[in-house]
Amino acid sequence: MDVREMHDGWDWTECSGYVVAAGGIRKNLNCYRPFQETEFLSLISALQEFRADAIAISVVSGNIREATLITRRIKEAMPLPVIWGGHGPTLEPDRCIKEADLICIHEGEQVIVDVAERIDSKSDFDGIPGTWVRNTDNTIRQYPPRPLLKLDDIAFPNWSPEDNLFINGDSVIRNYYPTNLEQNYIITTQRGCPFSCSFCIESRYQEDFGKKGSLRRRSPQLVIDELLWAKDNLPIKRVLFYDDVFTVNPRWLKEFLPLYKEQVGLPFWCYTYPTTHNPEMLSWLKDAGCDAITMGIQSGSPRILKEYFNRPTLTDRMITAGQEIVDSGIYGEFDLIFRHPFETEEDLKETFDFLCKFPQKMKAIWFAEMTYFPNHFFTNEATQKARENILAFGEPYQVSETLYAYYYRLFRLTRMKFPKARIMSLANDPRFRENPELLDEHMKYPEDKLAEAIERKKNNPSMTY
Ligand code: SF4
Repeated sequence: MDVREMHDGWDWTECSGYVVAAGGIRKNLNCYRPFQETEFLSLISALQEFRADAIAISVVSGNIREATLITRRIKEAMPLPVIWGGHGPTLEPDRCIKEADLICIHEGEQVIVDVAERIDSKSDFDGIPGTWVRNTDNTIRQYPPRPLLKLDDIAFPNWSPEDNLFINGDSVIRNYYPTNLEQNYIITTQRGCPFSCSFCIESRYQEDFGKKGSLRRRSPQLVIDELLWAKDNLPIKRVLFYDDVFTVNPRWLKEFLPLYKEQVGLPFWCYTYPTTHNPEMLSWLKDAGCDAITMGIQSGSPRILKEYFNRPTLTDRMITAGQEIVDSGIYGEFDLIFRHPFETEEDLKETFDFLCKFPQKMKAIWFAEMTYFPNHFFTNEATQKARENILAFGEPYQVSETLYAYYYRLFRLTRMKFPKARIMSLANDPRFRENPELLDEHMKYPEDKLAEAIERKKNNPSMTY
């Protein structure tokens, strides 16, 4: 099915992520309803009321187009400098500086302080390290990068409802804690990652900063202080640690987790990596309140993991790591990424074989297709390979749509509570390979089980079905 058909009346961002959800249905993750005139007017009116001196927009690769629209509308209405920071301008500065007056490359917490001081002293933005500035004649000045920040020097993010408002259609909601966060508080305790997966922003940043210095972590007590503020001031009931790999430093965790249990005591979710946890660490996490954890697997094909993803983790270890999570009693999910020009049917088959061995109790809300972010090593290589595939097979991928549809369903089957013999008999039936949709009637979730799962999800928002 053409993905656009599923999103009639909606738009979707650049670098949109596609996932394959239950039943093998392909969905776009990054849809939004196109901005309405009333929303622009509400935004301008709120900024005028706030009497802003400058507007700063957080821009990622996927929302440069939307940030451009908003920036142009703001500039039509208000003669204020518009500043962009985030992954977007860091990865595509040439594109972004055409719209913003100043862009921040890499970390921006000190840049914004420098900008505020310049505004206070009525000076221009010349010479602020880590920025590009566009002059009124559209010439560009580029300033040298600044060193990475010490994370303990950065202020806590301001989620105070009285300082936030939400514009949606005709409504402007004040005193607002983002509803998409539900009752969760999102926090990071570190920046950087010890790994360098080829498709990930971390590998791109390691090219700029080197690997060693880029992994930094906040002091345990400062993280606790932020969480205590959040607990006292926001309607939160759980914590989501968005660290790339929360389980990376046992010594830090050993200090942090008892403090967390004693002073914060909320259930929490975090990410792990197959080689960074062990049963003992999982027992500390569970004891401190961890009730859900997600582990990156990404592929069951050793060839893809090693040669293309730069994740040379042994598949046996991934299976053991999954079993350790199941045995710990923490609810476990995993991530998988596929559909890219390097993949062959043999790789999909190896992933299916892997999933048959991977603990069934490890769940996946969906399986993700590869997203290609600009100026990444993987994107450049995949683009080249796609060209070669087109010359060789007439298509960018080496696997046909029908075969992808078939393997989507096989992957899903491995997560259903079916006996292995039933999964294998379905997988070995040649009719389904030719007509994957025939598998659908074998994959229905019984109504009573679905009701049970919905109930479970209500009681634990981080869980999937
Ligand atoms: S482990 Fe995760 S965060 Fe780290 S480089 Fe790989 S994908 Fe990125």
